[in-house]
Parts: sequence; structure tokens; C-alpha cells
Amino acid sequence: KATDFSLADFHYTNNPDVLSPPEDFEEWINDPEVQQAFSFTGQSLLMAPKANTEILSNLDGKRRKIINMTSYNYLGLSTHPEVLAAAKEAADKYGLSSSGAPLVSGTLDLHLEFAEKLAKLKHKEAALIFSSGYGGNVGALQGMMRKGDVLIFDEKIHKSLIDGGTLSHAKMEFFDHNDMNSLEQKLEKHKDKRKLIVAEGVYSMDGDMAKLPEMVPLSEAYNAPIYLDEAHSTLMFGEKGGGVGEHFGLEDKIGMSYGTLSKSFGGVGGFIASNERIIRYLKGYASSWNFSCAPSPPVIAGLIKALEVATRDSTLRDQLWANTRYLKENIQALGLDIGDCESQVIPVIIGQSGEKLFHFAGEMQKRGLFLQPIDYPAVPAHARRFRISVSSQFTREDMDTALNIMEDVIVKGMK
Ligand code: PMP
Repeated sequence: KATDFSLADFHYTNNPDVLSPPEDFEEWINDPEVQQAFSFTGQSLLMAPKANTEILSNLDGKRRKIINMTSYNYLGLSTHPEVLAAAKEAADKYGLSSSGAPLVSGTLDLHLEFAEKLAKLKHKEAALIFSSGYGGNVGALQGMMRKGDVLIFDEKIHKSLIDGGTLSHAKMEFFDHNDMNSLEQKLEKHKDKRKLIVAEGVYSMDGDMAKLPEMVPLSEAYNAPIYLDEAHSTLMFGEKGGGVGEHFGLEDKIGMSYGTLSKSFGGVGGFIASNERIIRYLKGYASSWNFSCAPSPPVIAGLIKALEVATRDSTLRDQLWANTRYLKENIQALGLDIGDCESQVIPVIIGQSGEKLFHFAGEMQKRGLFLQPIDYPAVPAHARRFRISVSSQFTREDMDTALNIMEDVIVKGMK
């Protein structure tokens, strides 16, 4: 029943009952569990100036600064001084808006420059920039695929990809997460069809990576290109920040490489990189690009600088991985379960009880730490969790404070 889904983050499920709106809207809106899930983040937190590592808690009407370990600003680029200076300069020069769809009048020199640089980052011929990370996945799949085609999705992919699949009218098949036998079965079942394998570089709930070294031979054997969403891996993985494809030395084997600009890049938007033919084709058929205003010029100028800062040397990445190692080691030393984590996304899995999850979340907030609780059905009921997004900006002091709070609230609370 619809009200079983008390969830803050229910994009991350392929359960058809969750994907379609509940029948009784009023009942759902008034359900106390649903209200609790939404109010937890919506009403008890306010953004502080340094929102990426510090947030204002408004719990019980008392305002206090607390550590934020949920932001996607992995490399701190959203507030980097050089990035902000570039954005300000562009605001003066171009104004706030590009004021037109890309094929009409919206494409500026900034968009062309950034697209070229993104293509290079991904070792591809060309790239297309979307105003939204969600919208880019929708447009790319809706544009690429047709009725009669087959989209073969890892079961844990993001909702934007499923929505793009739905709009495309292609058949959607789901293989078991990262299970290459399950993938092969689906490929075999549709071997005569035009098809695409869709996976993520780093999965945003578990922090594990796509099994590219095993996926690529299947992609080649079945003539099914790989579409890889590197939302959580671009700029962090690979020697030059190209992502998980580059990390495995398989960037040339990825047919279409997708990235968002809202996470490590610290801005907003999405992009797809591929060969020149596909990008030209998508310019005609990816509706969320073609029929939507081109991204805001100050944002693009800031993003060009963000890309330069992140790739001119490995300082920010090194700091991110040092922080990730420190947190992982110490969370595990507390006896907490971090599942199959292989990245800067660290799940802290607490198991069965949804009540405890929200209780712990509230207690941690009172003591000075915001961790996002992730409830069923975003994750299986036996694997309810908190999810930490590591930032290169965390200080040792932030991390030690957070670890103490986790020990006091979660470890002691579970005993
Ligand atoms: N793809 C993945 C894998 C994501 O995790 C997200 C956002 N969480 C998106 C796409 C959408 O990106 P945005 O929030 O920038 O629209």
C-alpha cells in the first residue's frame, strides 16, 4: 500500500508501486510517516553560508550550526574563490540568463568552450550540456531509444534514467545489481534487438562501482553499447578525473558517458559525451536540450573554472581520498557496517528499524551532525542506513567530532 513508503529519497528504487503515484493522494499526504520523512530535512535544517560542510539546525526551534556530511559538493568547488570570481565576471558580461534554447539563440561562446573541455575530459569527440542533471539523462535516453529497442538497466540506476526510458517507449529490462550473469541473460534474451546497457560509475546509495572490466566484453559480444552515468565519479576517479571509465582504463569502451555538474563540479546541470555523430543526433532529438533554455552563463563560467581547478593538479582529489580513508577506517573501527563501499559515498548501515533510523538522525542533529537517513524503499528494509558524502573540505576536527557523535548515538543506541 502506498503509505508503506515513508520516504525522503524515493527516486532510488525501481519498485513499480513507488514509481507510480499512490491512488489516494490525501491519505498519502496526511500519513504521519510520510510527513516525518519529509519534515526531517525540510523543516529542521536551514542552509548556513558554508552549506557544504556546515548547516543550521532548527530542531526544536533552536538554531545551531552543525556539521553537514550529506552535501554532494565533494571537492568544495561550489565555494572555491576562483570559481566564484569567474561566475561573477560572467554575470557582469553576459547577465544571468542565456535567454534562449540552444538551437535558437541560447548558445554562447561559453557553452561551446565548456562542451569541448568536457568532451576532452571524457576522451570523447563531443559533448552536450543540459541545464539539469536529471533532465540530461531523460533527454539522452528519450532521444537515443525508440519503440522496439531495449534498455538494459542495472536495477539500482537513478530515476532520471528510468524516466528517460519511459519517454523513449523502449522496453526496459532490469538486471540484478552488478551481476554480470544476470546482465548476460537479459542481453541474450534480446540479442536481435537494438539495445543499450545502462549503469552508473559509482552507485549513490552503496558507493560501489560498476563492474566495467566484466561488463565491457559483454557489451562487445552482444553489440550493446554502454551508457555510464558518472554523476558520483567524474572528477574524483581516474588519473585525470575522467571517472570510473578512466580508472579502469576503459574510457574508449564507454559508448556514452554521462556526468552531472551539481556534484563534484559544484554547479548545476548535466552533460553527455560521445562520438560526434551521436551528439549531433541528440541535438535534434534530446528534447530536454532542444526545447529548454541553455544553462545560465555565470554557472557555465564557474564550471569552466571548476574543471580547471579540479584537473590542474590532484590536490583536491588527494584531500578527498585522504578524508575518505580516514572516515572509512574509523567508522569500521567503531564496528559499523559500510557495506560494499568503494568510494567517497559511505553508507552506514544500521539494519531493520525505521524508527531507530529517524531517532538516531534526530539525536545526531541535536548533538551537531547532520547525516541523511535513508529509509525503505530507497534501500531494502533490512539495510536502512545513513549515507555520508565525503568532502575534501572536511577538517580533521569535523571528522573527529562526527565520529564521536556516531559512536555516542549509533553504536551505543544499537546495543
Ligand atoms: N544521476 C545520478 C546517478 C544521480 O545520483 C543524480 C542526482 N542525485 C542525477 C543523475 C541527477 O542529477 P541532478 O541532481 O544534478 O539533477
